[in-house]
Amino acid sequence: MEDCLFCKIINGQIPSDCVYEDELVYAFNDIDAQAPVHFLIVPKEHIESADDLTKDNKDLIGHIYLVAQKLAKEKGLTNGYRIVNNCKDDGGQTVNHIHFHVLGGRSMQWPPG
Ligand code: AMP
Ligand code: ZN
Repeated sequence: MEDCLFCKIINGQIPSDCVYEDELVYAFNDIDAQAPVHFLIVPKEHIESADDLTKDNKDLIGHIYLVAQKLAKEKGLTNGYRIVNNCKDDGGQTVNHIHFHVLGGRSMQWPPG
């Protein structure tokens, strides 16, 4: 989608620090890391938010979680990690292309703000 930051990152118009790519997803380090490990997994298809998913996206979302697990293993997050999806305004979503944060390398707090 024109004018979408993450579509531009996926197609290389905006540079990013890629950590993984396949036919369905692109993963890159967050520019404003909130933990020693903090990367984002985004589908290559432009989907605005979790609220816009349909049954057609079921396999995609499962795939994203398996990619998160594989990358977390590769990055040595043996003690756990957090996967976050902020959905729309009240959820704190600032980029309207669905993405999953994977954070690790420190103990996370709860509840979120
Ligand atoms: P959210 O607030 O859940 O929508 O998350 C958006 C995330 O995108 C934030 O953690 C930002 O730091 C991150 N971000 C914004 N621009 C870039 C960029 N050019 N490269 C990497 N991460 C970015
Ligand atoms: Zn997009």
